[in-house]
Amino acid sequence: MSRMPTNTASTSPADSSDKIQLPEMDLSDLQALMLQWKQPKFRAKQVFDWRNKGVLNPDEMKNISADLRDKLNTELLCDPLKLMRRECSSDGTRKYVFALKRGRFAGKMVEAVFIPEEKRGTVCISSQVGCVLDCPFCHTGTQAFEANLSAGEIVAQILAIKADLRSDPLSEALEMFSDVTHIVYMGMGEPLANEDSVHKSIALFMHEDGLNISRRRITLSTSGLVPQINRLGEVQPVNLAISLHSAIDEQRDVLVPINRKYPLAELRDCLNRYPLRKQRHITLEYVLLDAVNDRAEDLQALIAFVNPERERVNLIQFNPYPGSPYQGTSKENMREFAQHLISKGIRATVRRSRGQDIMAACGQLKADTKLQG
Ligand code: SF4
Repeated sequence: MSRMPTNTASTSPADSSDKIQLPEMDLSDLQALMLQWKQPKFRAKQVFDWRNKGVLNPDEMKNISADLRDKLNTELLCDPLKLMRRECSSDGTRKYVFALKRGRFAGKMVEAVFIPEEKRGTVCISSQVGCVLDCPFCHTGTQAFEANLSAGEIVAQILAIKADLRSDPLSEALEMFSDVTHIVYMGMGEPLANEDSVHKSIALFMHEDGLNISRRRITLSTSGLVPQINRLGEVQPVNLAISLHSAIDEQRDVLVPINRKYPLAELRDCLNRYPLRKQRHITLEYVLLDAVNDRAEDLQALIAFVNPERERVNLIQFNPYPGSPYQGTSKENMREFAQHLISKGIRATVRRSRGQDIMAACGQLKADTKLQG
């Protein structure tokens, strides 16, 4: 464990930004803390079980003593997020808006989206408030970068959604899976620009004593930060998705500006090296913009870029947001684009857009709510 609360018995409680967050602790962290607090070791497991159920308010941890509840309340930031709003789409998708509670970041908003399917439930989580990058087709990119999330704040999004689905499951009529089985880092922010917290949160999600979500069920989507992708491959080789959106440098420089720093040739080398397990693929995301990246030359460049042995293309319908400068390709064009790729032996899928009625679809996340009270 990197940090432990100091003995604050004779001093005033630490500022909330300095406090350890309960969701960023694993079982051994809690055991060390109980030892430090002179509590029996089994208390760690009790607290940890509550945490894994998404119960982060010590006052609701009914089987622990009142003095331990007090200690948790004063020494830790147990629940680092406040749920501000939940919106439910008719297709079962739920969008959650959370406010941070930590120090000077208190009140800043992030969003997460639960996307149910018949046999799985995926949560798209945020890693930053706003984004350090500035992709012009992306709604999040129009929001200035304000903060990197801590590992605790990333994990707390999943814990809050698990708790919500337990207390208010999806209607059985929808015939959709009502729990979290898969996690995608595709919400607000560029996850690899917040590397430490993201690596730590992946480890926490995978921890077998904790949420025990396997690496195969975690996907990280990045705009293409080459050194960070290399490190991810070495340390936490989860499923990788790349926001490609063009295979022509001059155009990708505009659509995904990080391309100016790490152009396609560098990205190509890096993807060739990324460790892949059997039957796994890297996903290349390609949002189709009318008359921008859906022309014949765009298709040819994409065909030349893709390594069909290791990669597949996910074509994404552009989800307009208020003031967006682009139009989406027609559905017919999209199908044709996919067919051309398939005819060249490239696995191509068209992503079905979910939650569009609540602005929860891909590229639409932007926290524009102000904290009330
Ligand atoms: S596409 Fe991703 S990296 Fe680009 S601005 Fe949007 S959130 Fe940031």
